[in-house]
Amino acid sequence: MPAALLDGKTLARQIRSELAVEVADFIENNVTVPTLTAVLVGTDPASEVYVRNKRRDCDEVGIQSRLHQLPEKTTQDELLALIGKLNKDDSVHGILVQLPVPKQIDTELVLDAINPLKDVDAFHSENVGRLMQGRPRYLPCTPHGVLELLARNEIPTVGQHAVIIGRSDIVGKPLSVMLAQRGKDATVTLCHSRTKDLPSVARQADILIVAIGKPNFVTADMVKPGATVIDVGINRTDKGLVGDVDFDAVREVAGYLSPVPGGVGPLTRVMLLVNTLAAARRLEQ
Ligand code: NDP
Repeated sequence: MPAALLDGKTLARQIRSELAVEVADFIENNVTVPTLTAVLVGTDPASEVYVRNKRRDCDEVGIQSRLHQLPEKTTQDELLALIGKLNKDDSVHGILVQLPVPKQIDTELVLDAINPLKDVDAFHSENVGRLMQGRPRYLPCTPHGVLELLARNEIPTVGQHAVIIGRSDIVGKPLSVMLAQRGKDATVTLCHSRTKDLPSVARQADILIVAIGKPNFVTADMVKPGATVIDVGINRTDKGLVGDVDFDAVREVAGYLSPVPGGVGPLTRVMLLVNTLAAARRLEQ
């Protein structure tokens, strides 16, 4: 029997409708509207699409969104000055600097300049540190989306062997910490490009999560029969968007499989809204 699909699109729609109720309730009980401010430096077409989608999501749930679009040549000091202004602006609850920023700007410096209470991407070093210590303020959006996809499909993590392929700071590394924490209680193996005999490690997974950015990298022989496979990858190819998993072949082996598009991506977007509402609650309390 082919794997059951983990439908992130429908789940994201459901979470957005839940959030719309919570946002309306917040607005009724506070004098402000939860507000997300996005900062986009330059004209990277993919970044422009991401920001546009994030703003559309905000509209749908009643979160106010603002955009500061700065020219490609913006200096680091100019960007830091804007962030300083947004940090002080009480009407702004969440600040998002769309990555990547142009070369003349130090990404880490910029992320660390954001008020950690307004850091809805959860990339500030203080928020990363808190996550490591098991007392997160905000959860990073993509790993949170993966956990929500598992939880809402009632896929247990306790005692399960989760193998994550990819150790980036935004996906694999934080996800490994989140899955290993008390409550999730998975046994986690974090793999990367230097992992020896990756196929045999992957085959041990009850839950296999792939975030590397290589189309069709995970083949059927890398998957234990019945395993849950979460494909985080987004690759633009001649055939459109594809993930890191050979979808058709792996579907014949896995128990559950998240599609691309329509799997983790929509949940990543929704988690930004969750964090923005959480930031508004925190800042207005
Ligand atoms: P990065 O490029 O930052 O990291 C890639 C990771 O994959 C690295 O740890 C690298 O290992 C590892 N890797 C690369 N090749 C191999 C290999 N042959 N075998 C094993 N490991 C390998 O990626 P991101 O985490 O930023 O993104 C990964 C993918 O997820 C991309 O396709 C991206 O578009 C997508 N993505 C999707 C999101 C969503 O919402 N669905 C959100 C964010 C990203 P090493 O460290 O050794 O170099």
